[in-house]
Amino acid sequence: MQKGKKNSIHFELLILGSSSAIPSDARFPSSQVLRIGEELFLIDCGEASQNRLWSHRVRWSKIGWILISHLHGDHVYGLPGLITSFCHLQRTQPLIITGPMGIRDFLENILRHSQVHLTFDIEYLELDQKVQVIYKDDWRKITAFPLDHRIPTMGYLFEAEKKIRRLDLEKVQKTDIPLDHYQKVVKGESVQDSTGRIYEPDELSFIEIFKRSYAYCSDTRYKESLVSVLKNVDVLYHETTYLHELLDKAIQTGHTTAKQAAEFAKLIQAGQLITGHYSSRYKILTPILEECQSIFPNTVLGYEGLKLEILPRGNEIG
Ligand SMILES: [Zn+2]
Ligand SMILES: [Zn+2]
Repeated sequence: MQKGKKNSIHFELLILGSSSAIPSDARFPSSQVLRIGEELFLIDCGEASQNRLWSHRVRWSKIGWILISHLHGDHVYGLPGLITSFCHLQRTQPLIITGPMGIRDFLENILRHSQVHLTFDIEYLELDQKVQVIYKDDWRKITAFPLDHRIPTMGYLFEAEKKIRRLDLEKVQKTDIPLDHYQKVVKGESVQDSTGRIYEPDELSFIEIFKRSYAYCSDTRYKESLVSVLKNVDVLYHETTYLHELLDKAIQTGHTTAKQAAEFAKLIQAGQLITGHYSSRYKILTPILEECQSIFPNTVLGYEGLKLEILPRGNEIG
């Protein structure tokens, strides 16, 4: 049986920024774009996010939702600028902004003082520090969960699951069903050949399950209790602000070491770990990667411009 073509559903990550509080000429503060289907989710919005969106030719109009982890500047100071630019571009599509309590007050005050006149509606979703499903449709789900940082901080888990009917070309080619009927089969309709024989869709196609998950954890101390929320996630982004030799500093400032992030990825049996939120003291990131890989081999360094298709556990491109 010929198993169909490459999946046509998009579930892709683009990293715009990977630095912690102090950026450098090569690194920008936290921001990522997650594409699920045709919709773009912007996760955190540090300074320069809009410039990075522009550099990577991201279609701003496709961003329907901005999810902010917390109100530290390296995760949110790009937001007023981006919203202002949306207005300059005469955006009309509504936007959802999610974050811990205070995100609305933060943004509205800046926009008020700058006398920005919104050209579109913003719906705010301010979150308590608890695990909660914040979005669900027939194939996508977003769960917010509390992290352990110095101020209220949320992580986000994105899940997608969809049944896709694929044409079984080997079986179809044994019939004389016209080409223009193939689409009907994929839509789950029955079709007829030239003799009048009727084929039910299951005779000429098969069901494939598209299932993906991605979790975003920044900023946080090592938090083992999240295992129940994030178990078996396909791809985990987890901050790795410091090497483990600075464990005391990590605990004190509400961050995680590379070793701890790898241990967490192993604990939850993630498919792949992406690192990020690096302290500016690290000019070269190889030691962070090596520290992670000694515990969790399938670790990838997150960096500006990294584009990654989220694949199911066991199929990741290492
Ligand atoms: Zn941060
Ligand atoms: Zn922070």
